[in-house]
Amino acid sequence: MNLHSENFPQRPAWTEIDLGKLRRNLQLIRADLPRAVKLLAVVKDEAYGHGALDVARVAVEEGAWGFGLSTLEEAMHLRDGSIIAPLLLLGERQHAELEWCVAHDLTVCVNEPHNVRALAKIAADFGKQIPVHVKIHTGMSRYGVRWDEALPLIEKVLAEKSLSLEGVMTHFSQSDETDKTFANLQLARFDEVLSAMKQNGIFVKLQHTCNSGGFLDLPHAHRDMVRVGILTYGVFPSQVCRRISGIEPVMSVKAKIAAIQKLKPGEVVGYGMRYAATSERRIAILPIGYGDGFPRVRNEGCALIHGQRAPLVGGIAMDALMVDITDIPQAQMWDEAVLMGKQGTDEITVRDIAKLKNSVTYDVLTNWRLRLRRKNVNSKITAQKIGTLATK
Ligand SMILES: *Cc1c(COP(=O)(O)O)cnc(C)c1O
Repeated sequence: MNLHSENFPQRPAWTEIDLGKLRRNLQLIRADLPRAVKLLAVVKDEAYGHGALDVARVAVEEGAWGFGLSTLEEAMHLRDGSIIAPLLLLGERQHAELEWCVAHDLTVCVNEPHNVRALAKIAADFGKQIPVHVKIHTGMSRYGVRWDEALPLIEKVLAEKSLSLEGVMTHFSQSDETDKTFANLQLARFDEVLSAMKQNGIFVKLQHTCNSGGFLDLPHAHRDMVRVGILTYGVFPSQVCRRISGIEPVMSVKAKIAAIQKLKPGEVVGYGMRYAATSERRIAILPIGYGDGFPRVRNEGCALIHGQRAPLVGGIAMDALMVDITDIPQAQMWDEAVLMGKQGTDEITVRDIAKLKNSVTYDVLTNWRLRLRRKNVNSKITAQKIGTLATK
């Protein structure tokens, strides 16, 4: 019995990844960018829970120059999957990781002087000249060398024959809100470094600053490349940033009705008796719970069944949640319910789930558990077919 065979019966609860929508989002983003600006698709954390390798394969076809990742494992996973595009490791590397990075052509961000010598030595031992990106902190105080101390680090990189300065970058702390004051201050600090470089005759191929928010709202910050994450997956980084029409969420979460209960007035549902029926009710049990990443709610939220909203009743359990289907008499065992995504004309958005979780959309996308198997759909739609759609 092979767990990975196509015949293995799938659990009646899953995340659905619409690779056709992913492709379309990438096309819309690419079409919105000036041709000369490169697209770095950010696929860290399994492409925000969408499956990094499948996402990367589509993104390569849709003109992504390279990929942004967080961990060495993530990058190796793509290399093992035959992705040969540049892979930029955001964040900081431990010394022991550098050899792997050099051996597998993973591009390292340099944040401070410490690793420069070590990286240069390893590259020289491999007989390679490797590209590096210097990360400059311009006010976010996370990774990166301070903007007013960046030039010496850049010169240190240039002094190493086995390193080539491919990029200088910074990251915005607030790019997707209406007030861009701080983002523009960060950009001004970044530009101070660039003019100091220019005065010293230092040339760099790729300046890059923008995440999704910056890509949408700070066109003057696009420079040579943008690093787009969440928008690729069809979710806008905030409610106030610019919209691109046609962008659609790639991920849905679905389950099939696994039991139906008829309640008489006064009868209760679930642990802790958090819901009591005030009249005769019909309740559907969906085999998905907080153990799958659904927020731990009580009498809040809903599922879409036959295109209608079925309110969640009682407290959610590890493996089950209950919804009221009294007003959906046609609902039957094993009918499909949508917990996040579209059904008919209605939609439960990633943001709706984030509200239930008291968190952000990024957290919702990345925190569905893997026991909800990912099911890719529309993977066969070819680039050309959607391309024709996009031009209509
Ligand atoms: C995660 C990340 C991005 C992508 O951010 P989104 O808001 O998802 O577009 C870009 N740059 C860096 C350095 C990041 O860590």
